[in-house]
Amino acid sequence: MAKEKCPHCGSPLSIRRGYRKTGYGRKKLRKCSRCRRKFTPDDGFLRMRFSPRVIREAVKLYKKGNSSSEVKRMLRNRQGVEVSRWSIIKWFRKYGSKS
Ligand SMILES: [Zn+2]
Repeated sequence: MAKEKCPHCGSPLSIRRGYRKTGYGRKKLRKCSRCRRKFTPDDGFLRMRFSPRVIREAVKLYKKGNSSSEVKRMLRNRQGVEVSRWSIIKWFRKYGSKS
């Protein structure tokens, strides 16, 4: 898959090197077989404005049967973030089936 490509040299060949601790939790770490540099494959969360923790929480709350406006309010109270209702629905569609 294209997302597993090495960002340094573009080689599609890489091996799994465990995980790296980040502020957002664990990130997959891979090592390029060609240039031997380590990189983190794009897991779909990297370009998001909100942390995976917030997104996972939103999806979880929405799955429990809360409405998007309730989830929005809960996230504001618990995490101190302002999320649009549309974002919550979008996250649920994207990540809801995975967790
Ligand atoms: Zn490389």
